[in-house]
Amino acid sequence: MQLIDAGVNLMDSVFDPDREAVAAAAAAAGGSPRVITGSSPASSAAALAFAEAREPGLFYATAGVHPHNARFWKGRSAAKGGTAPDDGNAGAADPASGGIAELRRLALRGAAAIGECGLDYNRMFSPPGSQRRCFEDQLELAAELAMPLFLHERDAFEDLYALLKKYRPRISAALVHCFTGTERELDAYLGLDCYIGITGWICDERRGAHLVPLVKKIPPDRLLLETDAPYLFPRNLPRGRGKGRNEPRHLPHIAGFVARALDRDPETLAAETFRNSLAFFRIRAE
Ligand SMILES: [Zn+2]
Repeated sequence: MQLIDAGVNLMDSVFDPDREAVAAAAAAAGGSPRVITGSSPASSAAALAFAEAREPGLFYATAGVHPHNARFWKGRSAAKGGTAPDDGNAGAADPASGGIAELRRLALRGAAAIGECGLDYNRMFSPPGSQRRCFEDQLELAAELAMPLFLHERDAFEDLYALLKKYRPRISAALVHCFTGTERELDAYLGLDCYIGITGWICDERRGAHLVPLVKKIPPDRLLLETDAPYLFPRNLPRGRGKGRNEPRHLPHIAGFVARALDRDPETLAAETFRNSLAFFRIRAE
């Protein structure tokens, strides 16, 4: 079974001690491309460097600023030609500094999408106004560069939907990564012809059970699978030595769960979601 992990935060510092081993374990479990999520200019630069250092078609990276980092965003006011933190320093104190010029440079370096970007009113690590400004700058960039958009939304549906709808005619493709919302929200996203990313959240019987019937509403050509590792360890897996750290090698487990929820043959689901990932990110697989 060939799968594509559409979202793995492989540059997260929790993988610093064993990033290569984690990647190798994922390859052994599925042997397909993984798309590394960029969540700041620094982590996007690190993800691109990681992907560039490997065989073509094994890793891709997105370039964007997560809403949690929006408070550091300098936007269009940042001096053009600022220094690019391409030293992989994802844990810098100012993780989103650099602004739009730097993000454009990273995107043009070969990123597979703009993002992750969006709005997160769940934990409010950044003020909502900063989040909206940072998101809208990235919507504008995705439109300008005709690049797909990798979206993050949590407890912020109304605001995100309004902004997305405004820009949608100019956006080539949009993925609502880690969808965890309601049926009404799913319908609205599908109404904007979005791709929908499903993670191991669906395996969580406490907070993900509502997704089990909902995934049936996602058209087969709009569904993508992702781990969002190191976050969202599938709750129905034994925690083991990793102590709840999610890893990209768990993607087949998530795929199996989704296949059962859909009552669809796992091979068929794998082939469909594989095709969808290639189409959305406009990538090729080895
Ligand atoms: Zn996210």
